[in-house]
Amino acid sequence: MKEPKPGDTESALSAFSSISAISPLLLTEIFHSFEDAVVVTDTGRRMVYVNAATEQLFGYTRDELYGQETKILYADDSDFLEQGQKRFNVASRLAAENYRVVYRRSDGEAFLGVTTGATMRSAEGEVVGFMGIVRPARSAEQSLDALQKIHNITSDVAMSHDQKIESLLRAGLDHFGLDIAILSRISGNDYTVEACVDLKGELEPSTRFDVSGTYCVHTLSENKTVGFHFAGKSDIQNHPCYQNFKLESYIGTPIRLRGELYGTINFSSPFPVEPFCKDDYILMELLSDTVSYLLYTKMTEEKLEALARVDELTGLPNRRATLERLSDSVDQSNRFATNLVVLAVDVDHFKNINDKWGHAAGDRALAGFARVASGIGRKTDFCGRVGGEEFVFVLPGSNLEAGEALGNGLRERLAAEPIDIGNGEFITLTVSGGLAMLEKDEAVESILARADEAMYKAKRQGRDRVCW
Ligand code: GH3
Ligand code: MG
Ligand code: MG
Repeated sequence: MKEPKPGDTESALSAFSSISAISPLLLTEIFHSFEDAVVVTDTGRRMVYVNAATEQLFGYTRDELYGQETKILYADDSDFLEQGQKRFNVASRLAAENYRVVYRRSDGEAFLGVTTGATMRSAEGEVVGFMGIVRPARSAEQSLDALQKIHNITSDVAMSHDQKIESLLRAGLDHFGLDIAILSRISGNDYTVEACVDLKGELEPSTRFDVSGTYCVHTLSENKTVGFHFAGKSDIQNHPCYQNFKLESYIGTPIRLRGELYGTINFSSPFPVEPFCKDDYILMELLSDTVSYLLYTKMTEEKLEALARVDELTGLPNRRATLERLSDSVDQSNRFATNLVVLAVDVDHFKNINDKWGHAAGDRALAGFARVASGIGRKTDFCGRVGGEEFVFVLPGSNLEAGEALGNGLRERLAAEPIDIGNGEFITLTVSGGLAMLEKDEAVESILARADEAMYKAKRQGRDRVCW
């Protein structure tokens, strides 16, 4: 660590002379090794002390700064004036406060700084000078941190795809120091917020916008990552997106799924930020690829899941899906004390059909039966295939009479519409049905068994009928 120069100490001494209880020497020692830039001025806002971090951050030597107005540190003269009117004047009553301002280095590069500004007073309450502690809003090493976070999120086996996407949005917000993160779905001119993190909690998923009025329209037209760190002072200051949302900072990247545009991932804030750097753009590409991969696996899994629930031959819910849905319906009825009727249906003498016309014709007959079966009943009813030529109707809110009417309706339709089994042949199916109505707190297995029993009774009584 470097020793503080005597010159520093002297100028700080005069600045701190009225704080009698603390040794000014101690403060300058601390400030010297402080990582944030410390700037002390007299009441005319001329610099009387800066620490080593100030020299590093702004690229000036202390000798170049001492005696100068802090104006040379600001990117914009108007900000210098505004801060002077607000807090850095002898009449100021403001307490120490954090605020964001765009500064400028000696090499001309602008950056956003978070500043703690304070007025220094003598023991008598007289303003003797001002102090600002400045740190850059973002630092370069953060990219590596963000990378590490992204890796940890994607490799976490305990998280669902949706949780991973939300965590990635948060990691992006942390990195960029922004307030709003969005995964958008874009279709035509429709922009839908599919997932979001809004630190103010205002934006909700499913919110929709016209793409043409969003910042993402620029990302889409460039077809790559686009960033604005200070929109009000950029080319888009007159664009509807800025007029609509008044977001000063934005960085967004398109997301492609199997070569097609899916939407965007974007981060934004009402405040300006430090200009986005190369690392930021690389990070955005990485986030976009990661989210795209997550969306792809999610969709594939959902497709497989759906396929595993559908009976291939008839397109009806298969046994597993039927029993699951029946189980949900039973839970619902038990909870709300509502009626539930199950109708078990078995095609009569189906073996004969196979024997006579062949297995392929039998298959067509089953598919034809399913078309008829799915065309009857109410919206809340459903029919699934639970075995070879065995089907189950679940009729929530129904009673035995209505169930019987549905079963007989099915028989009438089958009688009236012979099924095309190919080669110009048509056959007429008959079915036997058994009804059971859910009893109080009855289990799924029990009501199914009772419906089956009733169905066998219909078989015994000569088939082509409904019993209960
Ligand atoms: P019943 O129910 O009236 O007592 O007589 P059944 O001939 O229908 O009775 P059973 O349950 O003994 O026979 C059902 C037949 O359904 C046996 C099987 O070959 C046939 N089957 C089951 N699944 C399929 C299928 O997916 N396609 C075809 N073509 N036939 C099937
Ligand atoms: Mg059978
Ligand atoms: Mg049968």
